[in-house]
Amino acid sequence: MFKTDIEIAQGAKMEPIVKIAEKIGLSEDDIELYGKYKCKIGLDVLKNAENKQDGKLVLVTAINPTAAGEGKSTVTVGLGQAMWKENKKAVIALREPSLGPVFGIKGGAAGGGYAQVVPMEDINLHFTGDMHAITSTNNLLAAAIDNHIHQGNVLGIDSRKIIFKRVMDMNDRALRHIVVGLGGKPNGFVREDGFMITVASEIMAILCLSTSLSDLKERMGNILVAHNYEGNPVYAKDLGVQGAMALLMKDAIKPNLVQTLENTPAIIHGGPFANIAHGCNSIIATKMALKLGDVAVTEAGFGADLGAEKFFDIKCRYGGLKPDCVVLVATVRALKNHGGVKKEDLGAENLEALSKGIANLEKQIENIKKFNVPVVVAINKFIADSEAELKYIEDFCKERNVKVSLSEVWEKGGEGGRDLARKVLQTMEEEKSNFSVLYDEKDSIKDKISTIAKEIYGAAGVSFTGAAQKQIKEIESFNLDKLPICVAKTQYSLSDNPSLLGRPEGFEITVQEVRVSNGAGFIVVQTGSIMTMPGLPKAPAANKMDILESGEIVGLF
Ligand code: ADP
Repeated sequence: MFKTDIEIAQGAKMEPIVKIAEKIGLSEDDIELYGKYKCKIGLDVLKNAENKQDGKLVLVTAINPTAAGEGKSTVTVGLGQAMWKENKKAVIALREPSLGPVFGIKGGAAGGGYAQVVPMEDINLHFTGDMHAITSTNNLLAAAIDNHIHQGNVLGIDSRKIIFKRVMDMNDRALRHIVVGLGGKPNGFVREDGFMITVASEIMAILCLSTSLSDLKERMGNILVAHNYEGNPVYAKDLGVQGAMALLMKDAIKPNLVQTLENTPAIIHGGPFANIAHGCNSIIATKMALKLGDVAVTEAGFGADLGAEKFFDIKCRYGGLKPDCVVLVATVRALKNHGGVKKEDLGAENLEALSKGIANLEKQIENIKKFNVPVVVAINKFIADSEAELKYIEDFCKERNVKVSLSEVWEKGGEGGRDLARKVLQTMEEEKSNFSVLYDEKDSIKDKISTIAKEIYGAAGVSFTGAAQKQIKEIESFNLDKLPICVAKTQYSLSDNPSLLGRPEGFEITVQEVRVSNGAGFIVVQTGSIMTMPGLPKAPAANKMDILESGEIVGLF
């Protein structure tokens, strides 16, 4: 019997976090302790290392996943552990888990098996409070909007045209569309509102794209919150709350340091979803990982069509980051799923389905190459995979001259990722990355969307609903259109239809809604029926969780 993730994590021999910090040259003055095993890293660390050369940057991404996840975090953690075995100081940079998926479908999000970050219970639950800070900051601004209207509405905010929503970090479909201000005059004006999940909040995106506290404050002020009765934009700074918002974020802006099961350093900071937001940990965390390690290994959410594209086109563009290598995670089970096998039959060998489904991997390899970064495929090995299936993927890559490695980090920890680590290091020695973004942010909104849809998703074209057309015109009239695009799309398919698996062709992407996140600095393009507030499934992961009188936690994956 295999141990569960939490059983393995609970058996871990953690080192005090000061010891982990020491391994990457951080003194006690550089960190703020949150108990014995967690700390925050002061922002001065970045300033003081300004003249120090950066390490190499590795991005871990994946094929289009199944609902269970394909092991990106697991491979990221395992690769970090393996690099230390190859005498490279690797610092991994991951996103913070949201309570939504923890209690919903997916369970914990701190890696898996023998490639995890710990203390996993803390990381998956309240951690150092960043999610709560983001939620409060978001809701301070939301409260300021309604209060402004209640107190006389000097700005003339049109309550039918308020864009900024309230958030909470939970999957709660009942809050998607609500009415606020009920109860008469003392309670403000009645209007339609709605909640998003915290990880979809613009505040989260701002945290992840800011490079300093002053940058964060400026971006907060630039959030477009509503239109006034003349149809002109109203920004957060018009309400005068950006200072208080930045204050609420004073600790959240500092990256968190924890450790892997093998006592190597892991920075965890910021956690926007990749289907409804931009899907990467903070720029500050990645920059720290680059300054503190020989190699920084970071992850972008879901498949390369969503996570990697936004990592390159949004995060790298703003952070001035130049990735040196991409690790593309593939699994036999997801590729069989792309080849038409149902979820319940994925355990049985099926080379025919694999040979069909592998087109998804082929497309994602092509996608990475469009950004001119070398790629290594990591096959995340599951117990049920047959030798023939694993060999099929290996041969497929070798025939296309793509480096490939079998990753056994879930089962064996860093030891199971040494071949992958060596191949990544070798690739960075031998192949030069000529990283470039996909489009010019000065192009029109429609052109930018069309470039992503055609080049990355393989779409035949893009159609826009009437509402989306109008929104685009409005953003253009406000002169806020020269920003990169953040597509909100299903993670399961290259298209915007979750049931079109493999490598679909001839499809159209339908743009439902376009809105500007002017503080974060991107334009959110809502496709298909993707929602910014998920719901819980019929049998939520929460039903299996418990805490015993002894304090022992069970069922958290
Ligand atoms: P992702 O980052 O792609 O969403 P995760 O790394 O979070 O995926 O993994 C999702 C779940 O799958 C975790 O519970 C993890 O333990 C499990 N998992 C990952 N890799 C393997 C593997 N090779 N064998 C078995 N389970 C795995």
